[in-house]
Amino acid sequence: MPDFNAIIIGGSYAGLSAAMALGRSRRRVLLLDTGRPCNRQTPHSHNFLTQDGATPAALRAQALAQTLQYPTVELRAEEAVTATAVAGCFEVGTATGASYTAPKLLLATGVIDLLPALPGFAECWGISVLHCPYCHGYEVGDQRLGVIGNGDMGFEFVRLIHNWSPRLTLFTDGPATLNPAQQQALVRHGIAVVETPLAGIAHTQGQLRAMQLADGTAHPLDAVFARVPFEQAGTLARQLGCAFTEMGHVQVDDMQRTGVPGLFAAGDATTPFRAVSAAVAAGGKAGAIMNMELIAEKFQ
Ligand SMILES: Cc1cc2nc3c(=O)[nH]c(=O)nc-3n(C[C@H](O)[C@H](O)[C@H](O)COP(=O)(O)OP(=O)(O)OC[C@H]3O[C@@H](n4cnc5c(N)ncnc54)[C@H](O)[C@@H]3O)c2cc1C
Repeated sequence: MPDFNAIIIGGSYAGLSAAMALGRSRRRVLLLDTGRPCNRQTPHSHNFLTQDGATPAALRAQALAQTLQYPTVELRAEEAVTATAVAGCFEVGTATGASYTAPKLLLATGVIDLLPALPGFAECWGISVLHCPYCHGYEVGDQRLGVIGNGDMGFEFVRLIHNWSPRLTLFTDGPATLNPAQQQALVRHGIAVVETPLAGIAHTQGQLRAMQLADGTAHPLDAVFARVPFEQAGTLARQLGCAFTEMGHVQVDDMQRTGVPGLFAAGDATTPFRAVSAAVAAGGKAGAIMNMELIAEKFQ
C-alpha cells in the first residue's frame, strides 16, 4: 500500500493549490516544501485578484492555513532529493533520509533565477530590480526607469516598459546590437541608450539610487527592469525522465500531465508566464486531474 494518494513536491502557490483540490477530494496528500518561493524578496505581490498588494509572507500564511485545515493534507519541511517510478507508484526520498510512496506525484518546484554577479543586483532583486511590469510596473509608473538588455530582446523589453514610463534608458552593457530601425524608434520615443559596461547598482536596502558605469559615472534611477536566465529547481524532473521545452520548462499537456504516467507538473517549472494567478490555476487543475485519475483507476 502506498503511504499517500498523492505527493506534492513544492508547497508554494502551485503546490498548495493542488493540495487544496486534493484535500477537498478527501485524498491523503503529502506536501514536501523547503519554503523558498522565488518571490520571497519582493515587498508586495501584485496582480492577483483579492490579494493585490499582499506581502508574499501573508499570501503564504493564508494559503497554508486554508490548505492545512483539510485533515488529510500533511506538510513536511523536507527537501525531496530523489524520485523514482516503479510499478505504478512513485517513491520520493528526502534529504533527511525518509522515503514516501504514492501513485500520483506533482512537481511544483518552481525555478531558480540565475542572477548576474553585478554588485547590488541580488540585493535589489524584486524590490527595485524588477522582472515583470505586470507585477511591479504600476508602482514605478512615470519614474526614472532603466532596462538592461540588448539586441532584439532588449528592444522588445524596452518597448514594453515604455508603456509604464517615458523616462526610460536602455543599458546595453557593451556595444549596442540594435538594428538601425530599432535605434531610430528609440530616438523617436526619447529613449536613451547607454552602451558603457555596467559596474554595479547603488542602492539603499535594495532601493536603487543609480546605475554605476565602468567609466566611473553614475546614472540616477528609481528602478530597473531586467530578465535573467533560470534553471529548474533541482533534478527531480530529469530523474523521472520528463521531457523539456526548448526554453527549459518541464513539458506538460493542457491537463498538467507530463509524459510519465501519474506524474504531473505545474507552476513556474512549466511555463514562462510567471504569475501567482497562473501558478494557482495550474496547481488547482493538476489536483483535480490527479483526483480524476485516482477515481478512474479504482472505479472500473
Ligand atoms: C522577484 C519576483 C517577484 C514576483 N512578483 C510577482 C507579483 O507581484 N505578482 C505575481 O503574480 N507574480 C510575481 N512573481 C511570480 C510568482 O512569484 C511565481 O510565478 C510563483 O511564485 C510561482 O509559483 P510556484 O509554486 O510555481 O513556484 P515557487 O513560488 O517558486 O515555489 C516553489 C516551492 O518549491 C519548493 N521546492 C523546490 N524544490 C524543492 C524540493 N526538491 N523539495 C521540497 N521543496 C522544494 C521551494 O522551496 C518553494 O517553496 C514574482 C517572481 C519573482 C521572482
